[in-house]
Amino acid sequence: MVIDLITIFPAMVEAALAEGVIGRARTRGVVDIRARDLREFTSDRHRTVDDVPYGGGPGMVMKPEPLFAAVEAIAAERGPASAVVLMTPQGRPFTHAAVEGLSRLERIVVICGRYEGVDERVADVLVTDEISIGDYVLSGGELPALVVVDAVARLVPGVVGDDASVAADSFADGWLDYPHYTRPAVFRGRAVPDVLVSGHHGEIERWRRAEQVRRTYERRPDLLDRAVTTADDRKLLAELRQRNAAAGVSDRKTDGQEPGDERDD
Ligand code: SAM
Repeated sequence: MVIDLITIFPAMVEAALAEGVIGRARTRGVVDIRARDLREFTSDRHRTVDDVPYGGGPGMVMKPEPLFAAVEAIAAERGPASAVVLMTPQGRPFTHAAVEGLSRLERIVVICGRYEGVDERVADVLVTDEISIGDYVLSGGELPALVVVDAVARLVPGVVGDDASVAADSFADGWLDYPHYTRPAVFRGRAVPDVLVSGHHGEIERWRRAEQVRRTYERRPDLLDRAVTTADDRKLLAELRQRNAAAGVSDRKTDGQEPGDERDD
């Protein structure tokens, strides 16, 4: 997989991409990820990438010419991109399904916005996909782009040492992950669950699955609509629902409400 990030802060992006799983995968040549300095694609003495907004108003807007020049130069060098992604809080929400879709592509270009955003003609003509990492606004597209690149690259076979660990992560199979423990067996009076030190692999697998189901039910019941369940999962879910009903607790909903939010209904 080849990914090019277009940014006015290549050092910021490079620093993050040099470390950890992604850094090692780049060194081994499993993925080819590069930060491109947008100012290299300007044609004036001051290497200008922004200008005042038409119609007035606060802030600056990223000019279209350098972005078009950058995407076209990258296409000439690498071949046409499978997707040109613009990071924007107005884009489609970045979910596991979006990660999977992008991880199947060969060549991706990611545009990091700054200021008030980019000239709309970039989105109209160059961009094939607009992605948001959440309903909040950051000062630039570099951190969002790094979120996208990290999540996408770790689904590329060979990037994470053990492919099984990616397959077991939260969301990969529709469930949240089970809890993890390491040594010591007792820490500040809190012991690791007995089953994990029992050496009984069948029991451990059953416990982990039950924990996935319980956690997903408690923390993200919205995921249950799409999760593929076994008979054991359904039995456990029925028990959890019954227990909640008996305790007079309604099933928790993750509807974006924060503690302290008031609602009329
Ligand atoms: N005026 C824009 C708006 O309200 O939609 C926000 C511009 S923001 C200050 C500057 C850049 O940060 C954006 O162009 C985008 O590239 C990036 N950005 C900020 N928040 C983001 C988010 N939640 N998801 C993806 N990109 C984001």
